[in-house]
Amino acid sequence: MLVSSMGKLAIHGGQPLRQRPFPPWPVSGARERELLDQVLASDQWGGGSELVSRFEELFAQLHDCAHGVAAANGTLALEMALEAAGIGKGDEVIVPAHSFVSTASAVSRVGALPVFVDIERDSYNLDPAQLDQAVRPSTKAMIVVHFGGVMAAMDRVQEAAARLHLTLFEDAAHAHGAEWNGRRAGSLGLAGAFSFQNSKPMTAGEGGILVSNDQEIAARARSLANCGRRPEQGWFHHFAPASNYRLGGLQAAVLLAQLERLPEQIRLRTNNAELLLKALSVPGIRFQAVPDAASSVTFYLLVGRIDADLFGMDRNQLLVALNAEGIPCRSFYPHPLYANPLYQELPCRTEPCPAAEKACQDSFWLPQRLLMGSEEDTLDIARAIEKIYQTAKPRKNKKKSGRGTAGVTRNGSPG
Ligand SMILES: *Cc1c(COP(=O)(O)O)cnc(C)c1O
Repeated sequence: MLVSSMGKLAIHGGQPLRQRPFPPWPVSGARERELLDQVLASDQWGGGSELVSRFEELFAQLHDCAHGVAAANGTLALEMALEAAGIGKGDEVIVPAHSFVSTASAVSRVGALPVFVDIERDSYNLDPAQLDQAVRPSTKAMIVVHFGGVMAAMDRVQEAAARLHLTLFEDAAHAHGAEWNGRRAGSLGLAGAFSFQNSKPMTAGEGGILVSNDQEIAARARSLANCGRRPEQGWFHHFAPASNYRLGGLQAAVLLAQLERLPEQIRLRTNNAELLLKALSVPGIRFQAVPDAASSVTFYLLVGRIDADLFGMDRNQLLVALNAEGIPCRSFYPHPLYANPLYQELPCRTEPCPAAEKACQDSFWLPQRLLMGSEEDTLDIARAIEKIYQTAKPRKNKKKSGRGTAGVTRNGSPG
């Protein structure tokens, strides 16, 4: 027990456990301003800025890739990857049923058919065991999402992709700097797409990038992002009816500074996540499994779920109580992607997805900034959950043996 006397819950008029705010997100400093000044002093504020190419190079390098093509956002980076690989009408693309809409809408926007496949209950990532039965002759590709910054089971994913002749793409919008067995996110498929939207582990407010080790994919993506131009062929020479997806120089300046901070921020979140998981000892709460092979995890989200019988409260009640105690915490996607009005209208194919359905009912996430404070800030999260548990009325027997029941073990089996 972290505190002996917890008192009345804030939802019942008691004192909130925590009054101080958690650290803000996003964060910036002198380095962002210095690089912004460089761009402002130059005559290239747009996609032609030298800082854009410098950022593309550094970001790709950090993700074990030879090529980086910056874009206005992560959604477009996904679309570029699919289109550059020639995915389109008549093709099916497997996507996890539980993700942000862009993973699927990018498939629809290039004219292909999204096939929704279930996630694993414990990892929240695409379940490779479902792939064999999901594949049809027209299934050409799959997109894995590294949810919350824990990479998908890439050994099994890559094995299945090779065996089933699927082109593999990574939606790495949560996974800047994440690793699987020492290999960086974005380098394990044909191409990877990252987002620099406001909430993501690195941000310029908006932004995205495609990374790849395939020279041809990168060249096609660059042309798609740049009005159908080709290198060395002149500004007013266009070879495809492409759009303009370019990232600007001012954004690249901010992103270069954000990239310098990324390793330290990942270290901080990892340390705090480990501290939190060790400290928390209530039944009925589990966190996303982190396999040994996930050698770097961004902790963009700390994903948890609640067993209402064991804890004595359901997910929505827990969220209200936690927020009242001063722990800002959010519920999951309200439904799997196929339940969006969009896919009631648009063609798609849906495999059975019981784990994705369940996750939308019983899971919650703690945003990254909650893991970016001091040890005391972090322990407040555990204290608040314990305080709430003390007043909850589990339907199953309240056992006091509890230590470690909430944690995640490094071997992938949640404790
Ligand atoms: C944020 C996000 C995207 C899209 O990125 P934008 O930059 O917002 O377009 C794609 N996939 C996932 C899983 C995301 O979380």
